[in-house]
Amino acid sequence: MSATVFTIANQKGGVGKTTTAINLSYAMAEQGIRTLLVDLDPQANATSGLGLEKSEGGSLYGPLCGEGSALEKVQPVGASDCLFVIPSEVDMAAIEIELVQRDNYLIQLRECLQPLRESGDFDAIILDCPPALGMLSMNSLAAADYLLIALQCEYLAMEGLGQILKVVEKLREAGVNDGLELGGILMTMFDQRTNLAHQVVGEVRNHFDELVFRNMIPRSIRLSEAPSFGQSIFEYDPHSSGANAYRYLADEIIQRFTLGAS
Ligand code: ADP
Ligand code: MG
Repeated sequence: MSATVFTIANQKGGVGKTTTAINLSYAMAEQGIRTLLVDLDPQANATSGLGLEKSEGGSLYGPLCGEGSALEKVQPVGASDCLFVIPSEVDMAAIEIELVQRDNYLIQLRECLQPLRESGDFDAIILDCPPALGMLSMNSLAAADYLLIALQCEYLAMEGLGQILKVVEKLREAGVNDGLELGGILMTMFDQRTNLAHQVVGEVRNHFDELVFRNMIPRSIRLSEAPSFGQSIFEYDPHSSGANAYRYLADEIIQRFTLGAS
């Protein structure tokens, strides 16, 4: 069975995309879902957050330029049998320029990932995107089955959402990726003591209803500390509220998309 591809894209930075990419991948792998995290952000936060070095030539940069295959960039993470990563590196910033010079520039990533997707080695592929709707994010949307959106529980959370949803619609209409769907909206940094957080969640649920994941991610210092130790929350503080939240989210996602059911 081919892997289900998720992109965590959103032009806003600091909303919890990378934190989610790392900890969701880790939690899914703990449940036996063979998960490949692909770091597409030149800042390589997911790479360093998993304790990996940015190594020259380790990223998808080469394969996206037509040199080498994505398969040879896959690295196992820690002792897990189920978690793999393709790291990023600073060079990835230049890919924005390289890509536009290629034919079919929107589907380069899709083509790169195709062998991984069909290999039978993975149940899920998670793409962590830079905080911009540039070439890399566009390519990720062209390559994905589902878009997952991280929304911070704050004032004007939904601002800018229309923009990315319009891009999704355009890519579908243009036939670039007619299978692309909004897979779900994840509320992050939820502070349950504030009225504002509850109001924001209510508003987003009014708009998007069932598309909003039942499980929200609480604001937690532990979640923000973990990456500086190169650890997921499951290594850094496995009994914290953040770890539990990502565990429940992983369960919800595994069920919603029937991952690993083969
Ligand atoms: P993005 O990838 O969307 O730019 P990050 O995941 O890097 O966002 O998160 C931005 C900042 O917020 C980081 O410093 C991160 O550690 C912190 N952060 C993310 N999620 C939480 C959370 N649930 N609680 C507290 N801090 C968080
Ligand atoms: Mg990020």
